[in-house]
Amino acid sequence: MATLMEGPPLAARIRAEVADDVRELGALRLVTVQVGEDAASTIYLRRKHEAAEEAGIASDDRKLPESTSEDELLDLVSELNADESVDGILVQLPLPAQIDEARVIRALDPVKDVDGFHPFNAGQLYLGRPTLVPATPLGIMALLAEHRVPLEGAQAVVVGRSDIVGKPIAHLLLQANATVTICHSRTRDLAQLTLEADVLVVAVGSPEVVTADMVKQGSAVVDVGINRTEGGIVGDVAPDAGELAAWVTPVPGGVGPMTIAMLLRNTVKAARYRRGVLAYPH
Ligand code: NAP
Repeated sequence: MATLMEGPPLAARIRAEVADDVRELGALRLVTVQVGEDAASTIYLRRKHEAAEEAGIASDDRKLPESTSEDELLDLVSELNADESVDGILVQLPLPAQIDEARVIRALDPVKDVDGFHPFNAGQLYLGRPTLVPATPLGIMALLAEHRVPLEGAQAVVVGRSDIVGKPIAHLLLQANATVTICHSRTRDLAQLTLEADVLVVAVGSPEVVTADMVKQGSAVVDVGINRTEGGIVGDVAPDAGELAAWVTPVPGGVGPMTIAMLLRNTVKAARYRRGVLAYPH
């Protein structure tokens, strides 16, 4: 049976380290922006605020109505960019249809972009000089490191190519010297590729997109999926797929808790950049 790569113990340790860092740095402030009332977003934001407060990071939630225009949101972003007391800004996605998400992300001051979605931060990751990197992929790398999963020279297969998970985790694995294949909805014969994977990261959003017969013996399987079903929350990987693997992440309780811990760590990093403790490339 595979070793479970559980998120909560490692996430708790990282949150405790963040709390120490916050005491050292002095007051830190994270501002989240939510437009509309998407139920899942509200839950995620509540968890982010609870974790921030617990680590000693002041956090405010700026809620705007569903009808907010793009210009109104851009005004708030420039106000937060200019506010010296704000270390990190997180605009919760998705945004309502009348707002161009990419434009809003481009408007963020990259040094306050704790989600790591701004093209400058994404470009730095692409160039192999990571600055602020999306939290979920960072959490995956922390779990793999914690369990000493070999990455150097490993065949890594990433299923999913989103800007939030698939693309950034592929870059981080590449930088860890894995040989990386990225799969997506048009990939022909997914199973043929996943069966070669020493490290398989699945971020699709569809239950059982990876079944037991698609997993290589002795591999590490990271299930990023969060799917709400009648039977509760399930991942993208069939539960019995862990039988052949050497390491698997549970869902829930795997990658999810890591994401919030790494968001807090990004907030500390943003504060260090802004205070000149770390050099941000300009
Ligand atoms: P997304 O933006 O919807 O991207 C899904 C990706 O999966 C796309 O690249 C899509 O391909 C690909 N795909 C769809 N069907 C496929 C198939 N049958 N075979 C292979 N690839 C397929 O999703 P996301 O934001 O990356 O999120 C993915 C999942 O992770 C969701 O369940 C989400 O809730 C979860 N998630 C969890 C966390 C966490 O903290 N645990 C954080 C973020 C996301 P195309 O590009 O060709 O459309």
